[in-house]
Order: sequence, then structure tokens, then C-alpha cells
Amino acid sequence: MSAADTRWDVLIVGGGPVGACAGALLQRAAGAGRRPLRIGLLEPARPAPPAAGAALDARVSAWSRSSERILSAAGAWQRMAAERIQPYERMCVWPAHVPARSADALVFDAAYVGESNLGSIAENRLVQCAALEAFEAAGGTIVPSGFSGLEIHEDEVQVRAAEQVHSCKLLVGADGARSRVRDALGVATRITSYEQTAIVANVRTERAHERTAWQRFLGAGTLAFLPLADGSSSIVWSVQETLARERLALPAAQFEQELLGASDGVLGALELCTERVGLPLRRLRAERFSAARCALVGDAAHVVHPLAGQGVNLGLLDAAALADCVLEALQRGEDPGAAAALRRYERWRKSELAPMALAIDGFNRFLAHDSGPLAHLAQQGLVWVNRSEAAKRLFIGRALGLAGELPAAARVRAAALS
Ligand SMILES: Cc1cc2nc3c(=O)[nH]c(=O)nc-3n(C[C@H](O)[C@H](O)[C@H](O)COP(=O)(O)OP(=O)(O)OC[C@H]3O[C@@H](n4cnc5c(N)ncnc54)[C@H](O)[C@@H]3O)c2cc1C
Repeated sequence: MSAADTRWDVLIVGGGPVGACAGALLQRAAGAGRRPLRIGLLEPARPAPPAAGAALDARVSAWSRSSERILSAAGAWQRMAAERIQPYERMCVWPAHVPARSADALVFDAAYVGESNLGSIAENRLVQCAALEAFEAAGGTIVPSGFSGLEIHEDEVQVRAAEQVHSCKLLVGADGARSRVRDALGVATRITSYEQTAIVANVRTERAHERTAWQRFLGAGTLAFLPLADGSSSIVWSVQETLARERLALPAAQFEQELLGASDGVLGALELCTERVGLPLRRLRAERFSAARCALVGDAAHVVHPLAGQGVNLGLLDAAALADCVLEALQRGEDPGAAAALRRYERWRKSELAPMALAIDGFNRFLAHDSGPLAHLAQQGLVWVNRSEAAKRLFIGRALGLAGELPAAARVRAAALS
């Protein structure tokens, strides 16, 4: 199929990591099952992949084990330059009133569960570009235009993009938090501002990051250091909006001093090596993840606070769950937009998302931002978790993304796929 063709089995709107991965998974799995699908993907802003040896971007994410498996099944992980990926072996979490490297700091070590690491830190752009390449390599078509409207008919959806009208059996909205697909479907959406901004940048640190993700609950926000492959660290410093504006405007040297104080010196002196970027934080939950012949995945369906590093990991689980539901429909001889498949997708992902979103908001409210009695209770909870190997293993299972009902792609060990 070429970009000039406009009839598709599946049309995906948005080639971020989630949309691109959904496309690659579906294209590969349907081809392997000898039921090839014509899949198009609308993406008006495809980024260029990072050049070999180029400095690391400041927009990075912690990719869980389930994400590594899903991206491997999509044929994307294998395309990512290994020298830009940093596996991390432990997470150290500590509240403001205890020293970072004390026995009261909570440490989750991959070794507790017999794993070599807890996940990997890699640039969003690296993953997105690899997933788009994997989609094309599997036979998918990228159309470089943006979605502008839709009409749903009984046996197809018609989609307007630039000067063209596309038609498809299934439309997937993967166009991020400001999803125009979600708006066009009239899906009610709860959006709540956290009244915080995340300051994101990369920093060089005096002490080595020790392949550890460090996170301090500040009482008025959180500060995370994610270890990067070039020895530097990515910071995500979530603070109240006005304070964030002030810190973003500080001269670099003054900002570095503030950062040193907030980090309790855990990695020693710090020096910025990228620009600082401020990202306003919102919680978003679409009331429905599907409609007639349409599904929403990733940030188009839900956005959570970044403190637990779960947003895109949940999105990739959506992509893989949707692929499972669509493939089951094809095996039953139905078309990819079959209503039963989309109902199953929605029930599945909503039931997995609800407890995770609740836990993340609880962490933000009681550990990161409160000093009342419930915050005290939550801090006692941290002490208890620290003493219980079983509780630690439970947390690690969640962080690896290997708990709950997993889609097929997340159940297969990555090594078995390569
Ligand atoms: C500070 C911060 C730190 C984070 N850290 C982590 C982390 O460590 N781990 C984690 O799991 N998550 C993390 N996240 C969340 C993660 O960044 C998002 O969940 C993820 O980027 C969502 O991916 P997506 O593909 O759903 O959407 P996006 O990445 O937003 O992609 C949407 C795509 O749709 C395209 N698009 C938009 N409009 C249209 C249109 N009209 N037509 C066609 N295409 C369109 C865009 O060009 C874009 O390519 C973090 C978020 C923040 C803010």
C-alpha cells in the first residue's frame, strides 16, 4: 500500500511510541497468521532518529520489562542503538526526612526477584523512531498528514486528513493527551491538573549513578534521577507550578545549587548538560476506551503522574491488548473493528488501569505532597515495605509491568523473540 491509498483495514492516528507499536504488533502478527492487514498510520510530525554519537535527548522514559517484551515482539527494541539504552538494576526511594543512603531508604533491587535489571532508561524519540521503522518493515504505511475529523458508518469509519478521506474497519486513536480522535468521538474525559510542573533536564553528576533510579519524596513534590547510558542522569523534578516557573528562570549555576539541596547531595555536585524543559502535569481519564469501530490507546485514553514512570508502559500494554483482541476477532472470521473485540479491549484495560492510577495518585498525594496524618501513615507504610521482602517483591512485579492480566506480547521473554 502507498500513502496515496485510502482504504485500510486498520487506520491508526498518531505515531508516538504507543500508536507505532500498536501498528507494528498488528501488522506482524496478522502477517504471521496469514491474515495480512492493510494498516495505515497518520503522523504529521515524524521525528528523525537520533544520529549516532549525538548527545542524549532530555525526554527519556523508564521502559518496564513488559514494554521491552512488547517492543521486541513489535520488532522495535532490536532496532534501538544499544549504546543509548541504560538498564537500571535498582530503585532507591526516600522521604525528605531520612538520609538517602541510610537503612531507612527503600531499595528495590532486581536481584530480589532474580532479574538482571528492573527496566531500561531510553529516549522517547529513540523508541518512537524504532517502532515506526518496525511498522514500515512489517508492511505498514505511514501517511504524513494529521487527522481532522471522522464519520462512523455501520461497516466502516471515514476519516478526514489533509485533503484526503480515508476509510477503515477499525480506527485507533493514539494521538496523545490532546487527542482529536477522542474529541471527535465525543468521549467524556476527566482532566484534573495536578497543579505541578515537571522540570526535565539531563545533568552530569559528581558521583556515578550506580545504575540506580533515585527518587526523593520532598513533601512538596518529587525529584527523580534516572541513570543514562552516557553516565549522566535525567532529572524529573515535579513541583508546584509557580515554583517551577521560578526555577526554570534561574541562572544555571543557581538552579544547580537548588537541585543539589533538593537531592540531598545523593549524587554529589551537579551540572546541567541540556536545556531545562517545564511540562505541566495533568491526570486524564477517558470515560470510554472504545466506541463503534474505534479504540483509544495510550495518552489518548489515560494520563497518569510521571512519579511512578508508568504512563507509556501502560500505553504499550493497551497496544498489545488491543492487538490480542483484534487478532482473536480475525480468527473468528470477524473484521478488525468487531464490536465484541472492542468491548473486551475496553473492559480489560479499564480494569487493569483503575488500581494503578489510584495507587499513583495516592503516592503523589500522601508521599510527595502532604504532611498530615495520612502522609505520616504512608511514610510508616514505606518503613513496613522496607522490612518485608514479600512486599518488595510485589512492588517490583508491578514496576516490571508483569502483574495482572498480560497480553501475549508481554508474556514472551524478549530473548525468545530475537
Ligand atoms: C515529565 C514526564 C516524564 C515521564 N516519564 C515516564 C516514564 O519514565 N515512564 C513512562 O512509562 N512514562 C513516562 N511519561 C509518560 C509518557 O511520556 C507518555 O505516556 C507517552 O509519551 C505517551 O505516548 P503516546 O504514544 O500515547 O502519545 P504521544 O507520545 O503524545 O504521541 C502522540 C502522537 O500523535 C501525533 N498526533 C497528535 N495529533 C495528531 C493528529 N491530529 N493526527 C495525527 N497524529 C497526531 C503526535 O505527533 C505524536 O507523534 C512521562 C511523562 C512526563 C510528562
